[in-house]
Amino acid sequence: MKKTIIAFFVCLVTIVSMAAKDVQNRGRLCLTFDDCHWGGWVAVMPIFEKYNAKASFFPHSALSAGALKCMKKLSDAGHTVGPHTVHHCKATDYVKKKGFEAFWNDEVAPQMKAYASVGIVPKAMAYPNNASNPEIDAQLVKRGIKRLRGGLPKARPHDPKGLKRATLVPFEKLDAMYMTEEAVATNHLMRGVGIGTFYNTDIEDLIKGIRRAASNNETMVLYSHDIQKKPSGIGMKTEWLEAILKAASEEGMAIVGFNDLP
Ligand SMILES: [Zn+2]
Repeated sequence: MKKTIIAFFVCLVTIVSMAAKDVQNRGRLCLTFDDCHWGGWVAVMPIFEKYNAKASFFPHSALSAGALKCMKKLSDAGHTVGPHTVHHCKATDYVKKKGFEAFWNDEVAPQMKAYASVGIVPKAMAYPNNASNPEIDAQLVKRGIKRLRGGLPKARPHDPKGLKRATLVPFEKLDAMYMTEEAVATNHLMRGVGIGTFYNTDIEDLIKGIRRAASNNETMVLYSHDIQKKPSGIGMKTEWLEAILKAASEEGMAIVGFNDLP
């Protein structure tokens, strides 16, 4: 009996402290994934579910029936999905050459139409190659795309051989990537940092950054591509995804898609 009562109180304290963590301001983690990897994204949905985590997925291409089926599955599970253009061309170059209307009609609208055919109205997108400017941002916002994933230029320069590692900025000190609540409320452009061996990701270093964001109640945005045991250089190792989600959830961070942002 005594043991049962103790177990009951331990359980109660755990529940109360978990609930308290939810309302504490412990920052936000926005994971985003780009390009044509919908099959792999769907395959790891149970990992996101395990941590009650949501993410954002941005495929390019004309979105075949097979692709749409996967995007619908992700969307139905509460993840954010949105366009990344049909041909993965830089918005800045396209708009400069042909104007915004052509960019929208040729590159974004066909994806919006495909999403609409399965009942999805995207409110977020990712710029191919993170190439954006404030004029294009404003035009997209007018069309209902409220969150735009860009990148932090030169934050962690490409250095596949590790020769310049000493010059790379540790995640914890990469101040430009951490958004205050005010910045989240007032900016449509969400600048992320790339995760993958190509981007020199060191998982321990990244986890220190996650802990910083939680301590300061900051929002951090990361982007990657495929999620696999052995991904491409610009992809996320499955074990990294687990480590990231585990650290963020231990810290009590909200792990959310762009559609969930205030
Ligand atoms: Zn891309």
